[in-house]
Amino acid sequence: MTKILLVNIPAGPYPTDYPPVGISRVIEGVDPKLNCDFYFYDLDYFRPSFEEIKSKIQSYGPDIIGISATLTPGYSYVKKLSLFIKNNFPNVIQVLGGETTVISNIILLKTKIDFCVTGESEPTFSNLISKLQKDNFNIKDRETYKNIRGLVFLLDNIPYFTGYAEETNIIRQVNYELMAKFTDLNHYMQNVNGQFYRIRINKHEMDGFFNLFYKHNLNKKMATVFASKGCVGGCTYCHRFFKGYKAIEPDKMINYMENLTRKYDIGMIQFAEENFGSNTKATSKIINYLGERKINWAASAVRSDTVNENKIREWKAAGCVNINFGTESCSKKILNIMEKRITVEQNVNAIKLCRKYDIFVITGLMLGMPGENEKTVRETIDALATTLPDNINIPYEVCTPWLQAIPGTPVYEYARRIGFIENSLDGEERYIESLNDKNSSEISQYLNFTDYEKEEIAYWPYYVFLELIASYIKKHGIWKIIKYKKANRFIYGLIYSMLPRIIRKTLLKYFSVISYFGFINLFKLIFYKNIFKKKKKYFNNIDQSIKKIYKDMPITVREDEKYTYILREGRITGR
Ligand code: SF4
Repeated sequence: MTKILLVNIPAGPYPTDYPPVGISRVIEGVDPKLNCDFYFYDLDYFRPSFEEIKSKIQSYGPDIIGISATLTPGYSYVKKLSLFIKNNFPNVIQVLGGETTVISNIILLKTKIDFCVTGESEPTFSNLISKLQKDNFNIKDRETYKNIRGLVFLLDNIPYFTGYAEETNIIRQVNYELMAKFTDLNHYMQNVNGQFYRIRINKHEMDGFFNLFYKHNLNKKMATVFASKGCVGGCTYCHRFFKGYKAIEPDKMINYMENLTRKYDIGMIQFAEENFGSNTKATSKIINYLGERKINWAASAVRSDTVNENKIREWKAAGCVNINFGTESCSKKILNIMEKRITVEQNVNAIKLCRKYDIFVITGLMLGMPGENEKTVRETIDALATTLPDNINIPYEVCTPWLQAIPGTPVYEYARRIGFIENSLDGEERYIESLNDKNSSEISQYLNFTDYEKEEIAYWPYYVFLELIASYIKKHGIWKIIKYKKANRFIYGLIYSMLPRIIRKTLLKYFSVISYFGFINLFKLIFYKNIFKKKKKYFNNIDQSIKKIYKDMPITVREDEKYTYILREGRITGR
């Protein structure tokens, strides 16, 4: 029997409540004929020390350790863990899967990972296990691994990519029963009125949100499921391995949800895919089932062009309580640069429809695309100010993170070409390590794609938010706000909205410089950086998709990436 220890990696300061779907899919997807025994050590949830990890490896005695790393900012942990395993267990084969394999060349040259499994890992991983079993876990003749599609490994010390494996179109759900053997299921299947929404919605607005539920669901559990995979979009800041979009057959989905909801007393379903609802017919069948069962549901990512009034009315009637839109921007120019393939009107209408039917919306923005400037930020504020809820009891949430240039995206490639990310193995590693544990809301991780100094734009996230709160206060009137809104943001917003627009903006701007960069930097900004001088226009002149721009900017393909650059250039975004 082959023993395989699977681990995820800790991401961020707190364990994620997103269930370990990649791990579940690998355990279920590996060919049973290979006679493998799996153990999943949930490093993200348990956060063990390296000594505890060592004890676990010693007691389990794996032939292979499979590391699942879904986010590039986790690279530093992967590196540390891999070196630690190599030092203590030199004969164990280390395999990495997940989105981070987009930087397989860096992984293989800078860590002790033996193989990267790209894309959907199950078929490639099965083929790799089979080959390793035949070779008695002794990787000698590396040439013979070239036949396994989807693999990256060192060949004559250069990372070698065997080409993309065929996509399977299978959409595996999380097997909660299986996960319960290894980890705390209560963490991934929380109470409807528990932590999940309490960390996403202001505590003073929670009651308004829970009023949207069927009362009988409030003390039940919520479960995360996937009704589709892939996306119909090709945004220039987004990386995905799966090409195209595929919805699960509704009958299969309904069958799965029926068993799941009955077994675990589920009162709410979270659809966690990146692009919910693009297949209208399949979605309709699935949500009508939920409606008949009086189970509430939410979709964590919906494209604005997916919805129209009929759909939103139908979704509401079927128990939908929350939709999150990746609105990103309401500037036509920025949407073009992003290649969002969504108009400002579609973004605005999608939110307005949810307001009309009392569905709670988290509007996800993204600041700082190349070409972003004060005008485009203002355009976003003005457009979103027309989408404020009439119902004062529904929570109001807007997220304003910065663009994060992640490998495998046109934005990352553009940053390499203009020298923001040094085009060397060490330079790229330095940049990726600089993202370690950085949240996209931190300006420190942002590569400044604007013509302003970084200090000058630090206030943008607060500016967007406070301007929208000021509009909200104007819409509902001060007395209603005082009566119904107890969250601090409305108190700050009230003070802010009393000042004339130009004064509040200026105060916020310089206050943000001091709070992020300190007094000294404020003086440097004013006296040395000539911020009052007319700026040269470089990024401001950008007015087309960043993908089109970077394609005309040649770059030398380095020796270490000569077989893997195709991974870096991305697959989905059409290059
Ligand atoms: S960011 Fe764009 S391409 Fe990526 S999942 Fe969202 S809509 Fe699709």
